[in-house]
Parts: sequence; C-alpha cells; structure tokens
Amino acid sequence: MLKPRQCLREIREYHSPLSDDTMDLRLDMNESTTGCSPRVLARLQHMDAKKLALYPAKEPGEQMVAALLGKSPNQVMLTNCADEGIDLLCRAYLDPGDEVILVVPTFAMYEIFAQASGARVVRVAATAEEDFAYPTERVLQAITPRTRLIVITNPNNPTGIAVDRYAIIKIAQAALDAAVLVDEAYFDFYGQTVIDQVGLVLPNLFVARTFSKAYGLAGLRLGALAGPGQQIGVLRRICPPFNVNACALEIVRDALSDRQFVADYVKQVKETREWFRGQMEEIGFKSWPSQGNFVLVNFGEEKDYLLRQMREWGIALRDRPDVPGCVRITIGKQKEMEVVAMGLKQAIENKKKPAPEQAEQPAP
Ligand code: PMP
Repeated sequence: MLKPRQCLREIREYHSPLSDDTMDLRLDMNESTTGCSPRVLARLQHMDAKKLALYPAKEPGEQMVAALLGKSPNQVMLTNCADEGIDLLCRAYLDPGDEVILVVPTFAMYEIFAQASGARVVRVAATAEEDFAYPTERVLQAITPRTRLIVITNPNNPTGIAVDRYAIIKIAQAALDAAVLVDEAYFDFYGQTVIDQVGLVLPNLFVARTFSKAYGLAGLRLGALAGPGQQIGVLRRICPPFNVNACALEIVRDALSDRQFVADYVKQVKETREWFRGQMEEIGFKSWPSQGNFVLVNFGEEKDYLLRQMREWGIALRDRPDVPGCVRITIGKQKEMEVVAMGLKQAIENKKKPAPEQAEQPAP
C-alpha cells in the first residue's frame, strides 16, 4: 500500500480558514481592504498573451527587490510569498529529529513545514500574563545541539508584539548551527528590521518579506527571502526556477516605485488601529498594542457569540482558539472599522435586552 512518509502521517490537512465570498468585509486574513497600487493594477491590465505564454525571468525582479532591501542580488531570492521561504528553509536545513524552536501563539505554517521535514517542534510560550512579550531567555534556554531552525516572527501574528533587535542578534549568536528566520511579513507597519545584519557577521540569519500585506497583493503571491549569499545559494538548489509567476514578476517595478501608495496605506492602518483599540477599551475588551495591520482582542466569554453575530452581519473576524477568549481583527479602512466597532457595541446591547421571540437581531 502506498504510504506517505512517516512524518506526514501526523499532519492534518490544513485549510486556511478563508471566509467565503458572501462576507461583505473580510477581516480574518490580514489582507489589505484597500487593495494594491493603481500602477500595479494598470500594469496587470496590460499583460498580453505572449507574456503569459512564456516562462518568466526572475532575475530582473530579484535585483530590484535586492536593491530595495539594500542587499546584493546573491543575498536575495524571490519566493512564492513568505510561505515558500519558510518551506525552503525547512527543506534545506531540517533532518528528521532536528529541533525547531517556535514562540507560540504564532503563524500556523511554520509548524506544518517543520513537521513535513520530520523535525520536532519545540514550543516556547509567550503568555497573556506577560502581555505576549517575546520570551528571549526561555528561547535561549530551549536551544540544544539539535536546534536547526528558530523562527522569530517580528512583529508576531496574532499578537502584534515585536521583538527587540538585540534579542534577535543574541539568539542568532547563541545558535550558530541553526538557521534563524526573522519573519518580517508585517515589516512595513512596524518599520524596524534586522535586514541590515543579513550577510554580515551572523552566518545564519535570514529575513522573510512579503507583498501580501502592505502592498495589498496577497492574491499575486510574491515574497522575498534574504540571507547570507552562500546559504541563499543552497536554497536556490532546491527552489523551482519558475516559483514566481509572470504576473507577479511583471509588477515588481511598479509596486516598488509607488512608495507613496504604501506609505499612505500604512499611515491609515496605524491611525485606524489605535482608534479601534480605543473603541475596544470603551467596550471593556482588552487588546494588545500591535505593530501589524491587525489587533488581538479578548472577547472573553462573549467570543463565540460575537464571532457568530458579526458573521451573520457579513463581517469575518478570526477566531484564535490557541489564545483563550481572543479574536484577531484585521484593520481595514477607517469607515469599515467604524462599522465593526458599532456592530460589536450593538451585538452586546442586543444580548443585554431580553430577546423577543424569534425576532431578527437588529443590524448595526
Ligand atoms: N508570515 C506571517 C507572520 C504571516 O502572518 C503570514 C500570512 N498571514 C505569512 C507569513 C504568509 O504570508 P504570504 O505567504 O502571503 O507571504
């Protein structure tokens, strides 16, 4: 009988909890509700049949992204988004039985790719009691001679909490036999990076970036992985030559050149995020200071009811069963978030009133 590799038998099929098209407002995937730069859209609309018929060249785009990141082209590879960068690192550096250190709660794909390589995941908790502060000391203590990968999500998803660059450097220095991946998917909202350190003294430091968030291009699947030139060379051995599609490569120049578009979107998200946190506080819900385009909010006992009620009103929020009582909410446009805040207030009011028999709950 055909059997998958031993390490795959434990992994369950992962379906991204994508909300369906019936949702009016998708705030469950940290996507941009603003969309991409008009320049990017115009370029895509002018794609012709010949371009689509040919295998695309990756190098020009790779050089442009390397220049943006301040790295030389041999230190940067374009990837089919951040996801692929993580997968490549796992496939390149993990043997069965090796250890991967993750600080949880965090993004789900690290664990899946690590397990698919047969590695053992060592989870270090960032706790609500400590406001999800990065547990640097506990991570340092978790390093063993078998540690081959440490993922530092900066800022973290779903908490939005960032890690100090000195902590990152300390960890990378303490685990020179391990790849240290700093996942900077939300870099544009945070503004701080360790990419300047890549390819210098630390031989094991990698940084992942994506166009899915601040550039509003999650559907196009474009990302980048930066690392020491020699190690990026290793990853190129196993990376398919056409891992990034022609449409994504076609728009790199336009996406990178429209700095104003990204800056305006990031500014709006940050302002709205702080306003929204204020609204949550008014209702009496704790949220955590976030450096991303989302916030983690503690709905406590009301979580299931509020998720269900908002869904009925066409608004998808992300349940985080791994953080008791909590929901992750993507920050959309100001007007959209006003509807969300109003909806939550309304839902709570509705619950306080004695429910009329079979009556529809009034929408916000
Ligand atoms: N890293 C983090 C921390 C994320 O939150 C996500 C997606 N939400 C990704 C990576 C993957 O993003 P993508 O594959 O679209 O670049």
